[in-house]
Amino acid sequence: MKDIIKTKKHALILSHQGPDGDSIGSSVSLSLYLNKIGINNKIIFPDPYPSFYSWVNGIKNSIIASENLELIDDLFNKSDLIICLDFNHRNRVGINLSPFLINLTEKHVIVIDHHTNPENFGDSEIIDSNASSTCELVFNLIKSNGDLDLVDIPIAESIYIGLITDTGSFKYSSVSSSTHLIASSLKEIGLNHVNIHNNIFDQNSVSKINLLGYALQKIKIDKLSSLAYLVLSQKELEQFNFQKGDSEGFVNYCLSIKNIKNAVFLREDKNLIKISLRSKGDVKMNEFSQKFYSGGGHLNAAGAAVESNDINTVTKKLIENFRSFCSV
Ligand code: MN
Repeated sequence: MKDIIKTKKHALILSHQGPDGDSIGSSVSLSLYLNKIGINNKIIFPDPYPSFYSWVNGIKNSIIASENLELIDDLFNKSDLIICLDFNHRNRVGINLSPFLINLTEKHVIVIDHHTNPENFGDSEIIDSNASSTCELVFNLIKSNGDLDLVDIPIAESIYIGLITDTGSFKYSSVSSSTHLIASSLKEIGLNHVNIHNNIFDQNSVSKINLLGYALQKIKIDKLSSLAYLVLSQKELEQFNFQKGDSEGFVNYCLSIKNIKNAVFLREDKNLIKISLRSKGDVKMNEFSQKFYSGGGHLNAAGAAVESNDINTVTKKLIENFRSFCSV
């Protein structure tokens, strides 16, 4: 992979919509690495990242596409390498950016990702659905390039962000011994994992914690399908001054209930209903999401979005769909 990268002058690093810890961590660590091997680069986030990531060393080398539409054309024109991280379907970058990923004959496209069912639109791809995170794959790429000595504290921090955010701090089934070995290598470099954890997870606003308290009381159970579900309308979110990222992790509280195997969180966002799906066990949430909502993700963690203004109807239908999917 280094042979291809080294022949290029301007790389664009693309993240998926709604940047999360893994897409931010993989984008920033790769950007810092490319700097070190002499490749100009810029990160493009389709929309803003949560503000609690602003401290990340290297995140300033990015632009938010939705706020800088006039710059996008130029960035694509002058780039000869496009690296897509943490997604493998072009529509995941959203309507502003996806047209730029069509007919890219003169540019080399690299896709690095750990989601299932890839579209395979890249010229080179590193896709491993067994990897815990895209950050794990970025670390392995740097390693296979023989460049581990270039990994400094900022690169280590960014890689670690993806490791912890995509694994629930090393507790999901996607964690392997390699995940821990990477964490170990990063610690050896001198990474301060306590600071990173604090910077990401202990930055709650009072309104977010109040929203969580409200949400926890609204969790309902569908015994038939062992499903715990939580529904929050736009109106409810506004009462708590909802900010992007405030409901991250809410779905996991549903899944933490004794004897519950499946969880869903539905959140109204303008004319969309955003759906987060989790399971522990055999229910393939990515298949469920794909079958009924053209969504995707991983076996135990998937997502989807439905265009609708009627969250109650979408919820009712979802429970019906989920019962039929589980044949109960
Ligand atoms: Mn990821």
